Amino acid sequence: MWQSPSMSYQPPMSNDEFRRAGHEMIDWIADYWERVEDLPVLSQVEPGDIRASLPTSPPESGEAWSDIMSDVDELIMPGITHWQSPNFFAYFPANASPPSVLGELMSAGLGVQGMLWATSPACTELETHMMDWMIDLCGLPDRFRSGGAGGGVIQDSASSGALVAILAARERTAGQWRWDELVAYSSEHAHSSMIKGCKIAGLTEDQVRSIPSDPTTHAMDAQALRRAMEEDIVAGRRPFFVQATAGTTSSTAFDPVHEIADICKEYVAWLHLDGAFAGAAAVAPEFRFVNDGLERVDSYTFNPHKWLLTNFDCSMFFVADRQPMIAALSVLPEYLRNAASDEGAVVDYRDWQIPLGRRFRALKLWFVIRTHGAEGLANFVRSHVDMAKNFEAKIEAHPQYEIVAPTPLSLVTFRHVGGDADNERIRDAINNGGESYITHTKLNGQTVLRLAIGAVRTEQRHVDATYNLLAALA
Ligand SMILES: *Cc1c(COP(=O)(O)O)cnc(C)c1O
Repeated sequence: MWQSPSMSYQPPMSNDEFRRAGHEMIDWIADYWERVEDLPVLSQVEPGDIRASLPTSPPESGEAWSDIMSDVDELIMPGITHWQSPNFFAYFPANASPPSVLGELMSAGLGVQGMLWATSPACTELETHMMDWMIDLCGLPDRFRSGGAGGGVIQDSASSGALVAILAARERTAGQWRWDELVAYSSEHAHSSMIKGCKIAGLTEDQVRSIPSDPTTHAMDAQALRRAMEEDIVAGRRPFFVQATAGTTSSTAFDPVHEIADICKEYVAWLHLDGAFAGAAAVAPEFRFVNDGLERVDSYTFNPHKWLLTNFDCSMFFVADRQPMIAALSVLPEYLRNAASDEGAVVDYRDWQIPLGRRFRALKLWFVIRTHGAEGLANFVRSHVDMAKNFEAKIEAHPQYEIVAPTPLSLVTFRHVGGDADNERIRDAINNGGESYITHTKLNGQTVLRLAIGAVRTEQRHVDATYNLLAALA
């Protein structure tokens, strides 16, 4: 028998050292949050700078924790774009807040795998409970509740949610249609994750249709959707999946979900609604227009990791009927069999997602919801919408700028009247200056600027400061 001389490895960080380093880490994060406002928002390093500063090979022997932390400050921090800065207005926000970070830390410490109910019952049951709570918090339809035919799960991203929806929709047509006869549809302003999901699911480019949108509202033209589906049917193809958007990435446009649902019902196509950013607004009852038509969709996704104080990753995915999804994703090898699953008494979330393993994400959501309460969450999104309205009014009053799309929530899309080159110049000047960070998009072929308000520490004065920069650059 093989015998090792001394194979009981003593890990370098003892529990006491971990305690000390951990307390320091919390201080480090809290200090970071206090000073993040003064850091240049967009990292100013050049490609390759960070790698060039790192040793080419891993260390032969372990290093002191204090050396590692000082390298974080010196080598890593210059390459950080500060998403938690109150002056971050690019893309959409990626919220991180104290209770969510503590939940994340606890989840890492527990280190559980929640693939089956049996592998950690609390991981599954708290998640089911949070998904039901989210239905109450956002006024979502009862058909998504865990007690009925549907239910909810936390995905890593809205992109995964779209992929799961595509696979469930495909499952519904199984046995009747060949995979290469299926066609999927979304508006030209739908998020790129829809096309990526179709690609992963094995659809070719000519099985995915991009439907034009209204040039003023940027919402999907439902009649154009109907025409495209009818053409495909005449050609012997099978429309199987439509993705509508509640709040597009470019301009928070809302597709006409009721009209689209009528069409999907007629042609028996799965309707997935992507509310990745805007969905969170429903925590405030006056913004429940974001849920319009939701009681008629097959699946729905939105991201607390964007605008609901919960750090990435935490994406809500709801289905009205979980059977096709489970049929599409369930594979049961012998080594995962257990009594609770066999009896059908429990939910096994591995059947609701692509990977097997899963993190205890519900913990951070539970901490966030309990710390803020429904009222706190509503006031959080309200504050950003107020700031956006305020900014919109100032832009409207400025002779050199114009608003280019409605501002239903906290994203303002606008442009300098001078044309694309002026808008690119202004964007680059702002971002290179480090005091603020905004991004652009294209609407009706024109370059337009986006100011997306939603960082945890953003106040009116930060938005005003960015307005002043814009005014100075006009
Ligand atoms: C951000 C966004 C997504 C993608 O979200 P992930 O969670 O990063 O996959 C999808 N749809 C819309 C409308 C978005 O704004």
